[in-house]
Amino acid sequence: MMVLDKEDAVRHEDAEKDSQSSRKGVPMLSVQPKGKQKGCAGCNRKIKDRYLLKALDKYWHEDCLKCACCDCRLGEVGSTLYTKANLILCRRDYLRLFGTTGNCAACSKLIPAFEMVMRARDNVYHLDCFACQLCNQRFCVGDKFFLKNNMILCQMDYEEGQLNGTFESQVQ
Ligand SMILES: [Zn+2]
Ligand SMILES: [Zn+2]
Ligand SMILES: [Zn+2]
Ligand SMILES: [Zn+2]
Repeated sequence: MMVLDKEDAVRHEDAEKDSQSSRKGVPMLSVQPKGKQKGCAGCNRKIKDRYLLKALDKYWHEDCLKCACCDCRLGEVGSTLYTKANLILCRRDYLRLFGTTGNCAACSKLIPAFEMVMRARDNVYHLDCFACQLCNQRFCVGDKFFLKNNMILCQMDYEEGQLNGTFESQVQ
């Protein structure tokens, strides 16, 4: 996970000698060195622009350093570059493909990051697991639900529980 700082790279035109910038994979916008033009690792054409990006020990056109999934440009200021298994990815796609979201608060199983999840406070849930834990009613957008003793409840069950004092007697 690396952050591109274009401003900084331009300011330090000689950034390659800078220990900060030699961290592997940091994309750097540098001025094209005099002499031989570099080839772009993305399109294999010579880079004729004044500026080029240096990332992963290769040179790129500003437009050619793209996410393998969504094609977004990774040379933008502040963008972050992730690599995995020869793929160059933006943060979002990296997390989607390789990250995990956490454990489902209902079934305790791990939720891969590419799955859709429901969130309630600090908890995450599989879509399938996000239902009233008493009556199994599913929720739609705009539906009210309640979180009590870490259980998801529909409004009816919640109110019923309040009346009966069920929740108060429950051991956390
Ligand atoms: Zn290119
Ligand atoms: Zn992407
Ligand atoms: Zn689950
Ligand atoms: Zn219910």
